Amino acid sequence: MGLRANFWQRFPLSELNDEEWEALCDGCGRCCLCKLEDEDSGDIFYTAVACRELDLESCRCRHYPNRLQRVSDCLDIRQLFNEQPNSMTLLPASCAYRKRAEQQPLADWHPLISGTSGSVRSAGITVQGQVLSEDNIPQEELEDHIIHWVEL
Ligand code: SF4
Ligand code: SF4
Repeated sequence: MGLRANFWQRFPLSELNDEEWEALCDGCGRCCLCKLEDEDSGDIFYTAVACRELDLESCRCRHYPNRLQRVSDCLDIRQLFNEQPNSMTLLPASCAYRKRAEQQPLADWHPLISGTSGSVRSAGITVQGQVLSEDNIPQEELEDHIIHWVEL
């Protein structure tokens, strides 16, 4: 079906075709960071520790087509949106899926707006160079790596 002109502005997430859905991802890699949940408040905290399947250079999943089979807690964002639209707050505030679910415009640095994927890195949004692999961090030390992003 291809990408319809300005699809991200004209159609809600529920009406995107598969190609448009994938094109909305800015490739930041933030959703692939290990998360911790506060048992009392339910608050989610991201850490600077990435899933072992994330290529830390490209910030892309090494096994994207099979990711859900390989990593049990990998998020299927489309399924999450379809089944629990209010849970998109689990995603980073910069995430294009969360922004569109919340009726917000995409940021200027998003590739669909800037026309280049390099703008995501220039804006400091990708996790490239900022995180470690979970292979190098014991689970019990994750708490020491909690991060807070400047929301963009
Ligand atoms: S946080 Fe959102 S935009 Fe960034 S890689 Fe994950 S799904 Fe894509
Ligand atoms: S398996 Fe899931 S969480 Fe891990 S890198 Fe791939 S998409 Fe990200």
